[in-house]
Amino acid sequence: MTIITGGCFCKAIQYRIKTGISMAVNCHCNVCRKAGGGAFSSHVVVRERRFEIVSGEESLSPFHLGESVTKHFCRHCGSPIFNSNKRYPGHRMVAVGTLDDPTVVTPTANTHCDSQLNWVVLDEQMQNFPQDYS
Ligand SMILES: [Zn+2]
Ligand SMILES: [Zn+2]
Repeated sequence: MTIITGGCFCKAIQYRIKTGISMAVNCHCNVCRKAGGGAFSSHVVVRERRFEIVSGEESLSPFHLGESVTKHFCRHCGSPIFNSNKRYPGHRMVAVGTLDDPTVVTPTANTHCDSQLNWVVLDEQMQNFPQDYS
């Protein structure tokens, strides 16, 4: 079985994903921008049961970004590890930048393109949604 590994910047938190990546998505919403600090966020969507914290679980801190979304980050170095979303129960949106090899996934969709920064160029071959999926 393919195992994908990752962790935070300071290495306190290490995780692994037992394949089964549903998809990878870029989100251009204002919440992701503020919470992540980049022009947009990139997440891989994985089933909760396929995601395992190998070490540093005690360093993982939650921050509620709103009614349904919780960001889980390293309380030492601040790296965002994953988001959970009550609208997508049983899934974790793992921050692509924390994968040990981020090149193993390629986002296929952009969401909340209505809010994208005007210097971000979207790939027309991808699925580009004005807001959320639909
Ligand atoms: Zn850390
Ligand atoms: Zn977003």
